[in-house]
Amino acid sequence: DAIANQIAAGEVVQRPSSALKELLENSVDAGATHVQVIIKDAGKQLLQVIDNGKGMSATDARMSFERHATSKIRTSQDLFAIKTFGFRGEALASIAAVAQVELKTRQVESELGTLIQIEGSEVKKQEPVATPVGTSVAMKNLFFNVPARRNFLKSNPVEMRHLVEEFQRVALSYPEVAFTMYQQDLETYNLPSGKLSQRIVGLFGKSYQGQLIPCEELTPHVNVKGYIGKPENAKKTRGEQFFFVNNRYIRSSYLHHAVSSAFEGLIQSEQHPFYVLFLEIDPAHIDINVHPTKTEIKFDDERTVYAVIRSAVKQALGAHHI
Ligand code: ADP
Ligand code: MG
Repeated sequence: DAIANQIAAGEVVQRPSSALKELLENSVDAGATHVQVIIKDAGKQLLQVIDNGKGMSATDARMSFERHATSKIRTSQDLFAIKTFGFRGEALASIAAVAQVELKTRQVESELGTLIQIEGSEVKKQEPVATPVGTSVAMKNLFFNVPARRNFLKSNPVEMRHLVEEFQRVALSYPEVAFTMYQQDLETYNLPSGKLSQRIVGLFGKSYQGQLIPCEELTPHVNVKGYIGKPENAKKTRGEQFFFVNNRYIRSSYLHHAVSSAFEGLIQSEQHPFYVLFLEIDPAHIDINVHPTKTEIKFDDERTVYAVIRSAVKQALGAHHI
């Protein structure tokens, strides 16, 4: 039922960047080593993600658009195991409910792949097609059938900023996967597979080359690993600050404070330190907001996590100053 699909879709797809997040996660889940993102008109006209992952059979391709169709059995190690189960298998169905979607996919063992075109949950075409191994999902004319939502989208620069932020988060959490981005046919990012420090330079520019301080602290409760920027390179604009918990991006003003307080005295109050920090913690000790588009988190013992982060950053800064 198209209406139910549209309503549910609003939960998952609020703007082009939320679709991008889902498509990129699918590509990484499919074992892709190279993922291309093609954007036209800030994703309003076209958002396409092409991967070289394992692809889908014709049956699975058709099934992938059914609500709650998921091929992914999550283990208890997965941070989101139980918490977001209710949202598993919703992404493609939701995107197809509010856009014109063209899927092309092929598995290595099949000579021909599958093409599926869906508009507003209606399958318009399904046929065999010659296509490389992997999957391409093109989302066209987002909210073409929900004018109110389409009008609610922000200007292209604003939507583009959201797209880039989402791209950065995924690209940072999978430095071993190569990513390319094209905007209006221009290549805007070309990130080869590599180490985290190289990924940071690829994303944020050559000015970070040799300017990153490694940061690591391992405790029985939580591990912290990543990089901070040198205090002398702190910028006046916010933004290049990333926390990942068990490799998922999260937002936390509390943990941000742990970092900024460690920088106190080394940077001006209007400056913002650069950081990309990965926390590893037993999923039993955290609580993720269940909504798929939210990035908030609660820790059983947030004071400990705060203290470990602060100490890790202080230590890294101390070592840098010797
Ligand atoms: P979920 O990722 O939660 O399983 P989705 O709606 O995002 O739900 O995708 C539905 C299913 O379609 C996935 O479980 C997977 O089997 C398949 N799928 C989606 N995208 C890809 C892709 N890029 N490569 C291979 N399979 C995919
Ligand atoms: Mg998915």
